[in-house]
Amino acid sequence: MTDAPSYGFDTLQIHAGARPDPATGARQTPIYQTTSYVFRDADHAAALFNLQEVGYIYSRLTNPTVAVLQERLATLEGGVGAVCCSSGHAAQILALFPLMAPGCNVVASTRLYGGTVTQFSQTIKRFGWSATFVDTDDLDAVRDAIDENTRAVFCESIANPGGYVTDIRTLADVADAAGVPLIVDNTTATPYLCNPIAQGAALVVHSTTKYLTGNGTVTGGAVIDSGNFDWSASDKFPSLSAPEPAYHGLKFHETFGSLAFTFHGIAIGLRDLGMTMNPQAAHYTLMGIETLSLRMQRHCDNAIKVASWLEQDDRVDYVTYAGLPSSPYYERALACYPKGTSGLFTFAVKGGYEACIKLVDALDIFSHVANLGDTRSLIIHSASTTHRQLTPEQQEAAGAGPNVVRISIGIEDPDDLIADLDQALTKACG
Ligand SMILES: *Cc1c(COP(=O)(O)O)cnc(C)c1O
Repeated sequence: MTDAPSYGFDTLQIHAGARPDPATGARQTPIYQTTSYVFRDADHAAALFNLQEVGYIYSRLTNPTVAVLQERLATLEGGVGAVCCSSGHAAQILALFPLMAPGCNVVASTRLYGGTVTQFSQTIKRFGWSATFVDTDDLDAVRDAIDENTRAVFCESIANPGGYVTDIRTLADVADAAGVPLIVDNTTATPYLCNPIAQGAALVVHSTTKYLTGNGTVTGGAVIDSGNFDWSASDKFPSLSAPEPAYHGLKFHETFGSLAFTFHGIAIGLRDLGMTMNPQAAHYTLMGIETLSLRMQRHCDNAIKVASWLEQDDRVDYVTYAGLPSSPYYERALACYPKGTSGLFTFAVKGGYEACIKLVDALDIFSHVANLGDTRSLIIHSASTTHRQLTPEQQEAAGAGPNVVRISIGIEDPDDLIADLDQALTKACG
């Protein structure tokens, strides 16, 4: 497809980044199952290694199948470039890597995916980085948390799993005023429901494992660069603004302009950290994205039906879904996420921990798994699984208390989902 940003989302999700294969005319994007690429001659090889020419060297860095996915994601998110990698957690490290140094911190929302809370509160300490967690609805608290060593603000657009939606625009303004980029994890919303870049985010990260692939086949991640952040405005981001010793003193921002972050992500991030996406994974994710808008709309439509049914049921204490008028985030959801608030929410079962365990075992259509964003409906009792490593306070803050289950509503017949929940609640609550 020629560059035509005026095409609509449904067209771009199928065509962006892809064109008939120049060698064979293959209409579907081939899986370039190769580790390396023959150089035209020694000069060509040298130019590629010096970053003077863009091309394929080795699949730890770039691969043509993965490149199509990168361009498609950059287009759908309204960014200038994207770097794909092996998982959503890898994407978070890849996003932070060019920004951080020992002693630096990220100011992160308390409402994050459980694995991200663990990664940020524990693992990144080993790099000498740290995270300060704040309630991102309290903008003064965010401003207070940002200090001279802060290098990013991090949030999720629709937070997993608590039925919370972030007002990205106001948070982006706070980050901007402090001269640091806002990074938004857009996994739960996907670019169909939310475009963080249009609302001021500098970088977007994804677990492509979830809705983007949509069928539970492969793990993957991506960082999408808005191209809008001025890395040279201060001396906070020397990896991008100062001479890079590993490339003969090249300055990424000066040399690559708005693509500085993307080039750094590949030339330093993937080269030295090596969390590369493989071409098979890119293929499955490209297949998934072709139907993203259709699936997401159905996920949203099913979720509101199931959430409304649960909310009126006596065996259920409460349902946290931003699409319900009872949600404290309902008005914000209408304003910021007009197409819907995805297929993920939690509900509290009156029988507590024990009833939750019985419920997940009694369901027939819903699978008890640690995934979300599949065509299939999924359920998990977060407190005994994904959020186990968190303290009780962190569990509550993340909306994952012992009496709470998280469901990821699939695209099945909604009446079947309701009937399944009905019979399982009967067994769980006796
Ligand atoms: C799953 C998930 C991640 C982590 O992604 P993986 O692909 O499992 O590494 C990060 N953020 C959110 C919101 C997620 O749902």
